[in-house]
Amino acid sequence: MNFHEYQAKQLFADYGIAVPTGRVARTPEEAVDAAKTIPGDLWVIKAQIHAGGRGKAGGVKLAKTLDEVREYAKGMLGTRMATYQTAGVELPVDSVLVCEGTDIAKELYLSVLVDRDTKSITFIASAEGGMDIEQVAHEKPEAIKTLHVNYVQGLQPFECRDLGFALGLTAKQVGQLTKIMLGLYRLFNEKDLALVELNPLAILTDGNLAVLDGKINSDDNASFRHADLTAMRDIRQEDETEVRASQYDLNYVTMDGNIGCMVNGAGLAMATMDVIKLEGGAPANFLDVGGGANKERVTEAFKLILSSDKVKAIFVNIFGGIVRCDMIAEGIIAAVKDVGVQIPVIVRLEGTNVEAGKDLLKNSGLAIIPADDINDGAKKAVAAVAGQ
Ligand code: ADP
Ligand code: MG
Repeated sequence: MNFHEYQAKQLFADYGIAVPTGRVARTPEEAVDAAKTIPGDLWVIKAQIHAGGRGKAGGVKLAKTLDEVREYAKGMLGTRMATYQTAGVELPVDSVLVCEGTDIAKELYLSVLVDRDTKSITFIASAEGGMDIEQVAHEKPEAIKTLHVNYVQGLQPFECRDLGFALGLTAKQVGQLTKIMLGLYRLFNEKDLALVELNPLAILTDGNLAVLDGKINSDDNASFRHADLTAMRDIRQEDETEVRASQYDLNYVTMDGNIGCMVNGAGLAMATMDVIKLEGGAPANFLDVGGGANKERVTEAFKLILSSDKVKAIFVNIFGGIVRCDMIAEGIIAAVKDVGVQIPVIVRLEGTNVEAGKDLLKNSGLAIIPADDINDGAKKAVAAVAGQ
């Protein structure tokens, strides 16, 4: 689950990490009221969406007067914003963060994540912050510093100091960085996070470090024990179809192709997408209906796939291990009748009771295209789309 910047900063503050004074606002008037409570005469108005890259998209504005605060907040609230990180999707700007404007001397990058190679919580830092860290990693890999935390010892202050000096910080800044890193490490562990990113972690002209941006991603598998985090969920920032899928316990991810896939098992779902690609097609989604697929879930899965008008054919690829193929066939028939599917449906069934399942499909009177195996099914799906 992703968090807004203002929520991330609240969590940082809860863990003793200093953040610039700021308040979230949902109307231009609230933004002005917020600015009045923030000392100084420079404010930053920041669109709250689940994506970075807002600066370049007009979602971060410096205001020098309260009138400018109102004007910028008004310009952002109620609009939709796409950035280079949203893959063409426009996210609703329902709130803005009004915070203290600061004078920046330099921008650093700091993140915490789980490194799967070393199986450790890892800090990644760079003195070249502010811009795309992927670009820095590509063009100047030596500018990226990595610290793998030993999971028995936990993060040690001396490791933070080493990292700080390697980034070229002064002794005072190294002390501030150590406090930030120890706080982040505790936050990361206690809240079961998957990613924390400070970009930028700024060096201000007065020499102090300041956390100017914060991104947090938490591990959904642990959400059952973090009611405080789930209370912060903003489903308006999430893909509508994926939200609906999660309500039915379906693992669904929207993709940009035109062949809808309905598969049981995550491994088979990935293999199906691969084979579609191999045959020259493009999957419209990843969908794992799960081992316990029944009629209701199959129907719901069809509805989800069909909610996108980009989908031109559906490839159902089911291996009946725990589930029975005849039951899946009944589900498919019911769903196709129920939902009124108008596009070609290609079905490959294999496993328990496969003959009974195939007979049901054949005798259903519906225009379902049977496939012998995964390759045959993918070929037929690609051909069905090409023929339209
Ligand atoms: P995004 O990553 O979505 O573009 P950021 O919060 O990183 O958004 O803001 C973009 C840029 O705006 C930062 O790199 C920084 O230069 C500037 N900025 C952000 N917050 C402040 C602030 N409080 N004071 C001054 N400048 C800021
Ligand atoms: Mg940023």
